[in-house]
Amino acid sequence: MPDTPELTSIHAADTVVGGPALFGRADANDRWTDRRDPVVVIGGGLAGIAAATVLESCGIPVILIESRQDLGGRASSFHDAQSDELLDNCQHVLLGCCTNLIDLYRRLGATEHIKWYRRVHYLDERGRHHSLWSVPGMPAPLHLGPAMALFGLLSISERLSVAHAMRAMMRLGRSGRAALANISFGDWLARHHQSPAVIRKFYDPVVISALNEDTPRAAALYAIEIFQEAMLRNRHGYTIGLPDCPLQTLYARRPCRDIRFGKRVTEIVCRQKTISTVRLSSGEKIAVSAVVLATNHHAATKLIAPEWLRADTRFVGLDRLDSVPILGAHLWFDRPVMDIPHAALIEGPLQWLFRKDAQGSAVHGVISAARQWVSTPHEHCAALFEHQLRALFRKPQAKLVRHRIVIEKRATFSPSPGVDRIRPPQAPPPGGIENLFLAGDYTRTGWPATMEGAVRSGYMAAGALLKALPHTAGLPSPLANDLNMEFTARWFSGSD
Ligand SMILES: Cc1cc2nc3c(=O)[nH]c(=O)nc-3n(C[C@H](O)[C@H](O)[C@H](O)COP(=O)(O)OP(=O)(O)OC[C@H]3O[C@@H](n4cnc5c(N)ncnc54)[C@H](O)[C@@H]3O)c2cc1C
Repeated sequence: MPDTPELTSIHAADTVVGGPALFGRADANDRWTDRRDPVVVIGGGLAGIAAATVLESCGIPVILIESRQDLGGRASSFHDAQSDELLDNCQHVLLGCCTNLIDLYRRLGATEHIKWYRRVHYLDERGRHHSLWSVPGMPAPLHLGPAMALFGLLSISERLSVAHAMRAMMRLGRSGRAALANISFGDWLARHHQSPAVIRKFYDPVVISALNEDTPRAAALYAIEIFQEAMLRNRHGYTIGLPDCPLQTLYARRPCRDIRFGKRVTEIVCRQKTISTVRLSSGEKIAVSAVVLATNHHAATKLIAPEWLRADTRFVGLDRLDSVPILGAHLWFDRPVMDIPHAALIEGPLQWLFRKDAQGSAVHGVISAARQWVSTPHEHCAALFEHQLRALFRKPQAKLVRHRIVIEKRATFSPSPGVDRIRPPQAPPPGGIENLFLAGDYTRTGWPATMEGAVRSGYMAAGALLKALPHTAGLPSPLANDLNMEFTARWFSGSD
């Protein structure tokens, strides 16, 4: 058992400022649950927004500290000086099964900005159009049956092979998929006789984009989760949601009253297993009752003293989480090229396309699991993408007039087999920092690194904190219900 430090990084002469006087000062001898100082949420990405929203709605005083000038973290927008437009760092997609994200958008008054698509478009290597759609009113998993039966992207034997694998996924239920945490999806697909062609045409467009990982390298647990939750459980799970505005607009309604933008937390000051204050880059210190640490895991480990990183088991092994890049390409053509709202592409380099204006001359392309693109010059990327789109849409004269390529090197962690052994829980473990709650897509949410995973983590961290406080312990969990399993899905799977 590692030593737990008694006193870390605190100086008697430090002045504590910033917390509203109403909430009093931290007293090291107090139990943290008795303090009246605010809860500080560090990080204004979706996890921090979700935690702050829940805590403030339960009457807990909250200060949200975000080092940038706006909210959203990795799911946000930036100002493009050339066009004077707000551009998203990358197109963000949600699905109907993202019930917590949808709940957060509702709390933020942003649901009207999400446009839902029941038809999922595909373009094959020759630019031929295929789609998956559901029969209105038909329950899952039958709802996609007619579209799958007619899905010309796959041969008849390939469609039967996919049906066989879907049946196997249904029969696994949630408990069966949990048992596949240490198995790769590549192994699972091989065991279920899924051919390389089926993997390329059917699994890759879903798995690579949803998990930001190559299909064979992903944990079977997470790949199967997508199909179970999005396609096989409830007729609404697979629908694609796309914001009709820059991501930043979704966060116009603030999650809490007191937000400190442009302030970076540099240190979380810990005494006898309890945080007393947080220190900002300005030198200011804020007395806290508790902290929700909602940064990514790279930043999280920099804010905690090394003794505590060893003592609190949540931080052990976090450096083994692998980061995977995503490439987003903003492309402006001199004429309309794209006449459908989105498309999964069977042949690269771009894997998904999204139409960004009414005429279809502004297009956004995405490459997930983009490891080999990190050091490719942007001009070279743009030339390849221009060539790909001209051929795909049969517009040989179309000219790319402008581009903006954004590569997020640390977009998400790799959901590889066994990764859940490293992902930390939100609540403090025995011997850990008692008033430190973790949020962030990397924490143990049961979901891969997605917006839904981030919001779940924020709700789970807030829920754990509320449970620890005597006056809020009886409140129900803030987590939204999953989509219910329809009776036909239950009948087909015979399990949970
Ligand atoms: C290019 C790209 C495309 C993606 N596409 C999709 C998609 O289509 N669908 C989907 O569901 N998910 C997608 N994701 C994943 C999704 O964006 C993330 O899982 C989610 O936004 C993570 O949220 P978070 O709050 O956990 O972390 P973050 O968004 O990283 O938030 C952490 C925040 O903490 C702040 N911070 C860090 N250190 C400090 C400090 N010391 N003091 C104060 N503040 C600090 C940061 O500025 C940041 O705002 C994509 C991600 C990327 C990068």
